[in-house]
Amino acid sequence: MRHGAWQCPQVRRILPRNRTCYTWSTVEVDMVLSIKSRRDAVGLTRGELLLAGDWRPSLDGRTWVHLHPATGEEVGEFAVADVADVDTAVRAARTAFDEGPWPRSRAKERIRVLRRTADLIREHTDELLALQALDNSVPLSFGDAYAMSAECAADIFDHHAGWVDKLGGETLSPYQGGDHMVFTLREPIGVVAAVIPWNAPLLLAAQKLAPALATGCTVVLKPSEYATFAVLRLVRILEEAGVPPGVLNVVTGPGETAGEALVTHPLVDKVTFTGSRAVGRRILHAAADRITRVSLELGGKSPSIVFADADIYAAAALTMGTVTVGLSGQVCVAHTRALVQREVYDDFLSIAAGATALVNYGDPFDAETTASPLINVRQLDRVLGYVGKGQAEGARLVCGGERVGGELAAGNFVTPALFADVTSDMTIAREEIFGPVLGVTPFTDEQEAVRLANDTEYGLAATVWTSDVKRAMRLTRAVRAGTVGVNGYQVEPHAAFGGFGQSGLGREGGRGSAEAFTEMKTVLLPTTDELM
Ligand code: NAP
Ligand code: MG
Repeated sequence: MRHGAWQCPQVRRILPRNRTCYTWSTVEVDMVLSIKSRRDAVGLTRGELLLAGDWRPSLDGRTWVHLHPATGEEVGEFAVADVADVDTAVRAARTAFDEGPWPRSRAKERIRVLRRTADLIREHTDELLALQALDNSVPLSFGDAYAMSAECAADIFDHHAGWVDKLGGETLSPYQGGDHMVFTLREPIGVVAAVIPWNAPLLLAAQKLAPALATGCTVVLKPSEYATFAVLRLVRILEEAGVPPGVLNVVTGPGETAGEALVTHPLVDKVTFTGSRAVGRRILHAAADRITRVSLELGGKSPSIVFADADIYAAAALTMGTVTVGLSGQVCVAHTRALVQREVYDDFLSIAAGATALVNYGDPFDAETTASPLINVRQLDRVLGYVGKGQAEGARLVCGGERVGGELAAGNFVTPALFADVTSDMTIAREEIFGPVLGVTPFTDEQEAVRLANDTEYGLAATVWTSDVKRAMRLTRAVRAGTVGVNGYQVEPHAAFGGFGQSGLGREGGRGSAEAFTEMKTVLLPTTDELM
């Protein structure tokens, strides 16, 4: 390697300010990491359910203790909603929709509430990011990264505030005889069940709540049991901003019970879900019975397609960065398949291996920590299982894939794994791992690159690395993915985001996302006394 990947300006953008290079393997430690003082400083309290405007414990008083993924310590406790609590929440949302003021409110009122929410989120940035770090251990340094920032969540509310007074129907001339007007109305879809995962709780809660509230829907939100506290704080902000009681309800607890009761509730009109493909499928099956509206943001196996004419340092370091820095690859848009032209294959591998030095594990509140542990022990075992499977199926493990010991032994940390010589029939090339594992596959020409890129059941994201603008255009059209970046990738909250294939149904962000929380109604209005 001619120079360290961290010297590349593009790579530096993903690092905390003023830092040099750290590595988990060189840190000498004799103390065991503890997160409890951070929790006490934040003042994390017990979480309750929000039902019909009241914060309360669950009916049967059951609670869940949240174990911090970096230390295994108990950091907080929240209510576990049972079927009766979920029923109360959905009925409250139903009543607020059928009888309450929100669906009938003036555009100006909803704009005011959404804009005020955005302002309050910005005012409470530090608190929200600290709670997020207590939830899932995403480092505060990564909270600077736009997609994980409070600023991004605030922008999503501002963006949807902008749609409130712009969505509407159209007036059409009649197609058949009769003297009448034909016009269409957009109406709020009704009671929305919103279910989100633990990896980016603020961003994902905003992506669902902002369009639902903008269009006049009422909502029952279920955050993940692994990331509850930042979302509960966000919900209090929405109350403070003026969302009326019953319009937004929150049930906490495991997906298998609280989540299932919510998404199958007969009074729900639409389910909006972000999470795994397996649960997405389950929701779709359940929705078939009542033709419940469904939108799904699911997983990915996104390719980074690197041509020999690209800036190879940026390509290799940033691709490795998407599966390591921040959430350690627990990101739907992690680019877990690097497809690399043969001429630069060896260079790519050595730079990507070097870029694992960008990973510094530890206390998420420490400015020098750059990456998180895996969310729980189940996910840790899953990732280690994939590392074993990759080797068993013949991929070459260049580095990593081991548990981290020392002061971090109680946390769910795995060293970043880089696999070379991966073929697209291997399990690690086909299944979403959701951890710090990058598989690299060589290709010869553009045709082969496109074939490999599209050889997946998913289709969430892709990045094309090349200095040839014509090739970039050809590739962006040929690759079947919801978002395609050229020489880089980032989240744009006002642009449609979502997946082709089994990466989901529908889009979040942009006009289509707001419209997905509406139903269209056609009105036929006679302008004479003649029958139509
Ligand atoms: P998950 O297991 O599917 O969980 C997602 C949410 O669904 C959680 O709130 C979970 O609750 C709940 N849930 C689980 N089982 C349920 C059921 N039977 N009925 C209703 N709800 C249920 O996913 P995850 O492991 O938390 O998140 C990782 C997945 O999310 C990955 O596949 C990732 O790619 C995807 N993701 C996609 C996007 C996107 O925008 N496309 C963004 C982020 C993540 P509990 O956690 O409390 O059990
Ligand atoms: Mg679960």
